[in-house]
Amino acid sequence: SSGNMLSLDMLEIIGTGNGGIVRRCRNRQTQEILAVKIISLDFQKNEKKQEIVTELNALNALHSDYIVQLHSAYLYENSVHICTEYMDRGSLEQYIGILVPENVLIYITLSMIQGLICMWNQKIMHRDVKPSNVLVNSSGSIKLCDFGVSRVLETIGQKVATFIGTHKYMAPERVISDDYSIPSEIWSLGMTILEMGLGRYPFQAESSYPPLAVRPIELVQCIVYETPPILPTIRGYSSEFASLIQQCLSKNPADRPLPRSFFENPLLMKYNNSDMNQSRAIMADFFNRTAVATNATR
Ligand code: ATP
Ligand code: MG
Repeated sequence: SSGNMLSLDMLEIIGTGNGGIVRRCRNRQTQEILAVKIISLDFQKNEKKQEIVTELNALNALHSDYIVQLHSAYLYENSVHICTEYMDRGSLEQYIGILVPENVLIYITLSMIQGLICMWNQKIMHRDVKPSNVLVNSSGSIKLCDFGVSRVLETIGQKVATFIGTHKYMAPERVISDDYSIPSEIWSLGMTILEMGLGRYPFQAESSYPPLAVRPIELVQCIVYETPPILPTIRGYSSEFASLIQQCLSKNPADRPLPRSFFENPLLMKYNNSDMNQSRAIMADFFNRTAVATNATR
């Protein structure tokens, strides 16, 4: 099915990625604030364009507190417009470098795994788990976005992204052989959490400022052969949490934690079983407070 075209008032640009631009906008019918991602399809055949829109709208069926809700995807002026829920505290990428307390990092981990499990249950792979695709709002919710979009761009040959950009969060088996399954997404989750905890991309010289540019060949070598650093205790992370994240980054996919083992982990369950409103309040407090310093509010 093809999504309904929405009548939107376009507001400011909130981000630019490799695929296109993202703007804040207002639905004229409902006055609701949304985000719209606009990807040019100038060089695509008409039937291909329709296929893309149909594929994206299938993602409408996903409803979860941990997934950015898709409203509608449709063709407009030779571009595909993907309208989603707007997340007013931006993406995790904007918080890299800020000390994230362990409880906050655990809520992020739990939210990400819940979102992923919801997709996997529907036989959907995210394919692009990374800090910029984990969004935050002022009520303290953490939600995944851009699932499916990456696949669409790949199939139309428009994945013009840089080598570094596309490989940074890829599991070793995917880098080597394009072999891809649930454990590969667990790896990307682990990389995302480790980067938040370290305050820098894990495979990057610790003491270099400004950070050294990673070259493609070095990046692949690191992903495939290097042991990533461990979440540092001096930044307040417990060895239980550090070892879970370390296990997510096992080179062998079979050694990574199974989705359900996140819910069998005593430390994580201490947070998961506690009052949900309280966890939201802690998250909201952290992101609203640090947003001031990082200008993530835009
Ligand atoms: P890449 O193109 O490599 O995937 P990216 O994820 O940063 O990188 P986009 O997906 O185009 O690129 O997103 C750009 C930025 O727009 C994000 O980093 C995020 O800050 C912001 N953004 C995207 N979607 C939303 C949304 N629904 N609500 C609020 N901000 C959003
Ligand atoms: Mg994105």
